[in-house]
Amino acid sequence: MIEVKGLHKSFGKLQVLKGIDDYIAKGEVVVVIGPSGSGKSTYLRCINRMEEATSGQILVDGVDITDKNVEINQIRQKVGMVFQHFNLFPHMTVLENITLAPIQVKKMNPEEAKKVAYTLLDKVGLREKADEYPNKLSGGQKQRIAIARALAMNPEVMLFDEPTSALDPEMVKEVLEVIKDLAKEGMTMMIVTHEMGFAKEVGTRLVFMDEGKILEEGKPKEVFDNPREERTQIFLSKVL
Ligand code: ADP
Ligand code: MG
Repeated sequence: MIEVKGLHKSFGKLQVLKGIDDYIAKGEVVVVIGPSGSGKSTYLRCINRMEEATSGQILVDGVDITDKNVEINQIRQKVGMVFQHFNLFPHMTVLENITLAPIQVKKMNPEEAKKVAYTLLDKVGLREKADEYPNKLSGGQKQRIAIARALAMNPEVMLFDEPTSALDPEMVKEVLEVIKDLAKEGMTMMIVTHEMGFAKEVGTRLVFMDEGKILEEGKPKEVFDNPREERTQIFLSKVL
C-alpha cells in the first residue's frame, strides 16, 4: 500500500529524515514510536505531502506522491490524516466539517455527502452533535469528529499523529476505541503514539525511530520484550 524508498527531508541545514525505507502492506497497523524530535511527525507529513521530501520516493497505492505532477487533492483522497490538536474548522458545524472535503474535492453531491457524514457520525457515536460547533465539544469528541472527517474521503490509508496526546486521560479510551474498530475493519494505518498498551494490542508492527531513521522494528510485543538496540532499550525503559 505504501512504499518508502530512501526518504530524506531537511529543513534548511537541519537534516530531519536521513534515509527511511519501509513497506506498509494493506491492512497493516504500523505504530511509530521514538524520542521527541526524531522525525515521526515529519515522516507522516511527508506521506500526505504536507511536507515535501528532499529526496527519495513515496509510493501510495502505486502512485509516487513525491512527483510534482501528482495533484495534492489526489493524495489527500487516498491518505487521511488526524492530528494531535484536531484541527477542526471552528466556524463550521460538525456536519459541515465532515462534508466540506467530499463536496469540494470529491465533487460529491451535498445530500450524498450528508448521508455519508451521518453514517460516520454513527460510527464514532456522535450523531447528536451534527449541528454543534467544535467549541461545544470535549477534546475526545473533537478528535472523534476529526477521525470521521478524515474517513469521509474514503481513504486507503489513515495517518494518526499522536491522536490522544492532547486529551484529558478520561477521554483517551473513547478515541483509541474508534481507532481499534478501524483496525478490525482492516484499515491500513500508521499511528504515532505514546500509548504503549494500545501499540501492543492493535499494532501489527512497531517502528522505532531515532534521529531520522528507523532504528528497529518488529512485532510490538517482541520489540517491547526484547529490544535489540541500546537506544530502543533506553527509550522503552522511560515510557513502559
Ligand atoms: P517528532 O514528531 O518525532 O517529535 P518532528 O518530525 O516534529 O519530530 O521534528 C523533527 C525535527 O525537525 C525537530 O528538530 C523539529 O524542530 C524539526 N522541524 C519539524 N518541522 C519543521 C519545520 N517546518 N521547520 C523547521 N524545522 C522543523
Ligand atoms: Mg511529533
